[in-house]
Amino acid sequence: MKLEIKKFNENILRVKAEEIKEITDETKQIVLDMVEILKEKQGIGLAGPQVGISKRIIIVQPDPRHLKFIALINPKTIKKGKETEMQEEGCLSFPGIFLKIKRAREIEVEAINIEGKKINIKAKGVFARLLQHEIDHLNGTLFFNRLNFLERVNFKLKHLNLRI
Ligand code: ZN
Repeated sequence: MKLEIKKFNENILRVKAEEIKEITDETKQIVLDMVEILKEKQGIGLAGPQVGISKRIIIVQPDPRHLKFIALINPKTIKKGKETEMQEEGCLSFPGIFLKIKRAREIEVEAINIEGKKINIKAKGVFARLLQHEIDHLNGTLFFNRLNFLERVNFKLKHLNLRI
């Protein structure tokens, strides 16, 4: 199965994805296909809805120095640090667009790995940001939704072709 990246105006990016009840061979194939896309596009994170699969699955690269990806199934944010940080972010569904987004500096996430085991991840900085961005995708929230009102107006004026 060849997956394709869904772009900004597609509805699937705006809806809440469904929980995965059971890890099947199909789930494993989805993971392999998503990792392949990430490698091809040189991305660091991807969520199911971005490839047309409205299921709660994300693939992330925890450390940019290593080409190693992990799959998180039904990821849930269980703790968010109060401290925030403003950094530029990109998204494979918005090619060429980079936005400065305020996010928590630290985060704790609970998920199921591809072997069906419950895992707990404590992340900081870029990895924490990545997890927040990808988990947002599972809830139909896109990065510009995190801008404040004025920033969003400016963004809209600059990219009038986008559905915002
Ligand atoms: Zn994204």
